[in-house]
Amino acid sequence: MSTPLPATTEQPALRSDDSVAKQLFLGNIVEENLFPYPQIRARDKDMLGAMTDAIDQFLADKGAELKQYDRDAEQPAEFIQALREMGLFGLIIPEAFGGMELSNGAYARVLGQTSSHDSSVSLTIGAHSSIGMKGVLLFGSDEQKQRYLPKLASGEMIAAFCLTESGAGSDAASIRTKAVRNDDGSWTLSGEKIWITNGGIADFYTVFARTDTPEGKITAFLVEAAWPGVSHGPHEDKMGIRASSTTTVAFADVRVPPENVLGPVGKGFKVAMSILNSGRTGLGGGAVGGMRSLIRLASAQAKERKQFGQPIAEFGLVREKIAQMTVDCFAAESAVWMVAHLIDGGGSDYSVEAAMSKVFASEAVQRASYEALQIAAGNGFMREFPYEQITRDTRILSIFEGTNEILRLYIALSGLKDVGAGLSELKAAVGDIFNDPIKGFGVLGTYTGRRMREATGYGIDRIVHELSPRLRKVAATYEKYTVELSKSSDALLRRYGKKVADQQHAQKRLADIAIDLFVGLCVLSRADSLLKQSHPAADEAVSIAEVFAKQARRRMARNVRGLERNEDAMIERLAGAVLAHDATNTAISRAARVFIAPPRSRGGHGRPIWRGAPMAREVRNDPASHVLRLGFAG
Ligand SMILES: Cc1cc2nc3c(=O)[nH]c(=O)nc-3n(C[C@H](O)[C@H](O)[C@H](O)COP(=O)(O)OP(=O)(O)OC[C@H]3O[C@@H](n4cnc5c(N)ncnc54)[C@H](O)[C@@H]3O)c2cc1C
Repeated sequence: MSTPLPATTEQPALRSDDSVAKQLFLGNIVEENLFPYPQIRARDKDMLGAMTDAIDQFLADKGAELKQYDRDAEQPAEFIQALREMGLFGLIIPEAFGGMELSNGAYARVLGQTSSHDSSVSLTIGAHSSIGMKGVLLFGSDEQKQRYLPKLASGEMIAAFCLTESGAGSDAASIRTKAVRNDDGSWTLSGEKIWITNGGIADFYTVFARTDTPEGKITAFLVEAAWPGVSHGPHEDKMGIRASSTTTVAFADVRVPPENVLGPVGKGFKVAMSILNSGRTGLGGGAVGGMRSLIRLASAQAKERKQFGQPIAEFGLVREKIAQMTVDCFAAESAVWMVAHLIDGGGSDYSVEAAMSKVFASEAVQRASYEALQIAAGNGFMREFPYEQITRDTRILSIFEGTNEILRLYIALSGLKDVGAGLSELKAAVGDIFNDPIKGFGVLGTYTGRRMREATGYGIDRIVHELSPRLRKVAATYEKYTVELSKSSDALLRRYGKKVADQQHAQKRLADIAIDLFVGLCVLSRADSLLKQSHPAADEAVSIAEVFAKQARRRMARNVRGLERNEDAMIERLAGAVLAHDATNTAISRAARVFIAPPRSRGGHGRPIWRGAPMAREVRNDPASHVLRLGFAG
């Protein structure tokens, strides 16, 4: 692995208000926001150098201690104090309030640096900045900012974000924590939140509660841990990111003064979603930092470990893993930094891009941890080495800040919404032709023009930005599949209308095509900028862009095909058959018990012979259990 590839040319502000991601569904590439690849602000660059050196110096020789914190499931108070002293709680807070005022791009890089040492550290500082106190920055009044930001910047107050409840996970709008307005304008807050990161160490909570006012159902509040009635539970015993604090937080008739309502009354759900959308670069940056360190570890291991008389780095199947991790890391990094730039450049409609980068980066780092552990093999499985902890730590990334399933649905439905709006306009325009021919024909003309271009391939939206000739073929892949995405979205909406919301298998395919397009375009842009600068890493970047485009093309082709020809109905039937059974004592669960029983001996053709566990008749006759059996008969 060569040295990390840098960002490239300066691109201060966005030139189009259009969302790059949503426009892909309409067959357009908003290239003015994608090219040239953005560079980190000069001011951030200076600060980042010093910051990342300080992080390395502080964390590099703490390996054994960090491992112990993971075992103990706690970061000691003196360690948190050291994080405060390094200024790691003030990363994104304006200088006027005592913070460092890093851009989103720089913030993502800082979390990348901490994650390359330890994910729990990133989570403690990330949950504070990305979600815990972000609401004050985005929606706080001047008075709230004056009152809280200086303490939040110094870490005197650590922040947490309290949305999830036992009955409200992905369906966050169903929260039951309640706030009732009192006659004096204050609120009485009661309820319990679960799995709150920093819950046990926070002094400041952003809390979402049901208020059921005429203005809306949910309101956000700023709550101090020291207030009467606020308490938290013990640290959860988690699979990964164990050292970071995760607890319940309870509110027993807590009096919240009126000046601690965050944002407009009744608009708390929008506040929550805005915080989560703008916080996703932190998570993506952390994933990228994790990948970089996995590539370093795996490369060193592959060069050092000898088998069959040579380093395992000489074997194709090991090299394939190292190369794939590098492609994934570069791609995730290109997308995360681009999204940070979309936010820093003043864009307001970046939530779909943020979701795409989160889904891609979180899955890429999990693939990388799996493959790095596989390269280390036996060593990888031992707790003495870092791989098992990284594998545990990265697992959370596709669960919190929106599960990847929910985010895929969000990506597809957001894109389809604009396509649907276009189709409705078209329907209205057909009716309008006689009443208002100019308007009617105008809309019709635009639509039929687009469909004509898509059908003939003539004049389809091309990337007009002057690309290096070496990257033209890569660009052609994205040009072609942007049109395919638009055609598929259009066809899907025509087939299902509003019922498209129930077509989750199709939505997943659309989302995956769109993610490949967005991430691929970010890779293309970055490689192009590096080439134009004759950067030493440019050749490697072009190879990465070529490999990513070929792989993405195969995935996109499969997804486009899958929208027409698939086994979705069979999958639905099968799931229905399995789910129709009582979970505790059914044919399937008995089949599962047979499945996990150890084979006593093996017959011919590798078939296990099960003694003492005859298969019940209902198991034999059940179509789903038949499939379970196929699982181990082959
Ligand atoms: C370590 C940790 C830290 C956390 N930190 C915080 C925090 O600081 N603040 C906070 O508020 N919350 C926090 N959370 C909560 C986290 O955001 C939720 O776990 C997450 O939103 C998912 O909710 P859930 O676990 O209840 O899963 P569920 O919503 O029950 O989902 C279960 C499964 O069903 C899928 N699913 C759900 N609905 C649909 C649907 N409509 N279509 C298709 N699939 C669906 C999901 O993708 C998932 O695979 C944390 C969680 C963990 C584990």
